[in-house]
Amino acid sequence: MDRECTERKIRLQELSGKKGRYRECNGKSKTPMIILGIETSCDETAAAVVVDGKRILSSVIASQVATHHPYGGVVPELASRKHIEAIVPVVNTALSDAGMDSKDLDAVAVTCGPGLVGALLVGFCFAKAFSFALEIPWVGINHLEGHIHSVFLEPDPPPFPFVVLLASGGHTGIYHVTSHTRYEIMGQTRDDAAGEAYDKVAKMLGLGYPGGAVIDRLAGEGDPDRLVFPRPFIDKTTFDFSFSGLKTAVGRYIQTHKDDYLQQIPDIVAGFQEAVVDVLSYKIVQAAMSRGCRHIAIVGGVAANKRLREKVADDGGRNDLKVHIPSVDLCGDNAAMIAAIGYHYLKNGTASGLSDDVFSKIGRIQAPCVPALK
Ligand code: ADP
Ligand code: MG
Repeated sequence: MDRECTERKIRLQELSGKKGRYRECNGKSKTPMIILGIETSCDETAAAVVVDGKRILSSVIASQVATHHPYGGVVPELASRKHIEAIVPVVNTALSDAGMDSKDLDAVAVTCGPGLVGALLVGFCFAKAFSFALEIPWVGINHLEGHIHSVFLEPDPPPFPFVVLLASGGHTGIYHVTSHTRYEIMGQTRDDAAGEAYDKVAKMLGLGYPGGAVIDRLAGEGDPDRLVFPRPFIDKTTFDFSFSGLKTAVGRYIQTHKDDYLQQIPDIVAGFQEAVVDVLSYKIVQAAMSRGCRHIAIVGGVAANKRLREKVADDGGRNDLKVHIPSVDLCGDNAAMIAAIGYHYLKNGTASGLSDDVFSKIGRIQAPCVPALK
């Protein structure tokens, strides 16, 4: 038996030996609780097995980038079809990677929104049927709460309260987090999300979809100070963001340099990135200081950005803040983060019912304080 198999077997023995009964989900459960997480809100089909909301036994992500790449963005109908093809193999792989059978699971946590409704329904209906058949509880999870919980999958998570910047393709906001299930929104984007700005700028420059990782790489070859794009602070006293003006400024530069912009791409993306990162880093640090919090975190797809990670670490350190950043694998959409927050709801006796449904968008005030759960 190879080392990996031996480790899995030991892990399984260790877990099954101590496992209590969680099937009633009565809030009196003892550890460990083994949760299958499922995520299908956009263009990744993901499943993960996580113990006690913090120990990842497996995490599988089937990306649809190749499918959507020719269209320069996610095509919702194609996304749903791809999730249908992938959901069963992805869940099976997550279980086998964890060395488990479906009967070893105590509960299921699944993203119920926000996201593309047709895409969400695939994971959500799968989770409902799967847990119904296994007679185990399941819980619908707000995707944004999932992202915030990616920091709890790391060895040194922040203590409460802390302030977190969530920057992804669909959302950009700052939250004051006082417990696993209580968040107060301090500010959010008034137009484009930070990741959306990366994707749109990449599209204008013909760099393909998704643009964040490409810009991250190309910016390293450019001079961030040669082209100075506007810093969209809006107003230094609020923690809201606005990225659409910056995106337009890059578009205008491209139009006025039609003949030679192609030779300037590294400098253009480096200048654009520096503007985004300056604003994000400034606002998260100011938000934490305004609440007297000593711990900050950055999460979401954009938190994978090298320059943002470096700048927040520097600015945070200079202001005596402890900075928490999940590993790059946990920044983008994944199911481990969904299982991580699912644990806290299930442990407290919160579970979903068969009549529950998915949702596409959340209002400015609620997000993500009300996870749309019964
Ligand atoms: P969603 O918005 O569906 O929640 P993710 O949390 O996975 O998805 O975030 C995806 C976004 O993150 C995309 O807009 C992508 O361009 C951006 N992104 C991914 N990697 C990087 C990076 N290294 N630098 C900047 N942006 C990135
Ligand atoms: Mg996401």
